[in-house]
Amino acid sequence: MYDYDLLVVGSANADLVIGVERRPGAGETVLGSDLAVHPGGKGANQAVAAARLGADTALLARVGDDVHGRMLLHSLRAAGVDTVGVLVGGAPTGVALITVDPSGDNSIVVSPGANSRLAPEDIRAAGSLFHASRVVSAQLEIPLETVVEVVRCMAPESRLVLNPSPPRPLPREVLDACDPLIVNEHEARVVLGDACVSDLPEDWARLLLAKGPRSVVVTLGARGALVASAAGVFRVASVEVEAVDTTGAGDAFTAALAWRLGTGADLPEAASYAARVGAAAVTKRGAQESYPTAGEVEAL
Ligand code: ATP
Repeated sequence: MYDYDLLVVGSANADLVIGVERRPGAGETVLGSDLAVHPGGKGANQAVAAARLGADTALLARVGDDVHGRMLLHSLRAAGVDTVGVLVGGAPTGVALITVDPSGDNSIVVSPGANSRLAPEDIRAAGSLFHASRVVSAQLEIPLETVVEVVRCMAPESRLVLNPSPPRPLPREVLDACDPLIVNEHEARVVLGDACVSDLPEDWARLLLAKGPRSVVVTLGARGALVASAAGVFRVASVEVEAVDTTGAGDAFTAALAWRLGTGADLPEAASYAARVGAAAVTKRGAQESYPTAGEVEAL
């Protein structure tokens, strides 16, 4: 028996957002709107998205012993995420400083802080969480050597879902463990590197599969997604919605897909459900604030 449907290993950030008329140049100061503080980071986003859908979810992450860390712990618990694996201290909580201009364009500076201190020994120390979880989901806002340790600590029968974001080339040991590797168009190109010899997403899916993962999902925004495995490449239809804000749609998609795989769905079924969750997430502003409940997904 598993205690968790999903263990997410990843980042937790405080997103500090200020609206500006225009961004300052070098040496310049501009006045902006009141500060808005939102919980974020790909790990925390995925954990909240899964818990909101009803998954028993734990997060393994690191935050600072500071006001942002406490805000994140509070928001995770309020969403129903088990925070037993959230370590505190070692560096300030990760922060994203975001300015948004009237056209909606963002400029973002990220201080990874405590996320960059989530170390391989933290993963080894959390061994029991890995044995208690059916599916493990990771991203790359934590050190790559920490993700390698995740692969080594996973129970043989559990399944790794990896979204390599922000993207970088991946070692074969990590690629081989992914089932699936989930990439958007930009991530597909970076992970493929010199092997990206085509502009067609179907080709990226096949080329990525040849690099070792047991399965691959390529997300295509409003155009839905592709799933690829030994059985072939299949298109997953998107749901037509009025998109208000696409922030965090990828994290909602990944969390939903990981959870559904854990409940026994096959990959096309899980991706089709995840596409509905991603579509629901773009109909509301924000990242975590936009994530739907299972009931809202049904109603879509
Ligand atoms: P982000 O980095 O903004 O979180 P992403 O680039 O990782 O997102 P996307 O491909 O934009 O991921 O979105 C993930 C999934 O969410 C898509 O595969 C699709 O199913 C759904 N989705 C995203 N945007 C839309 C949209 N405008 N309409 C319908 N569904 C969408």
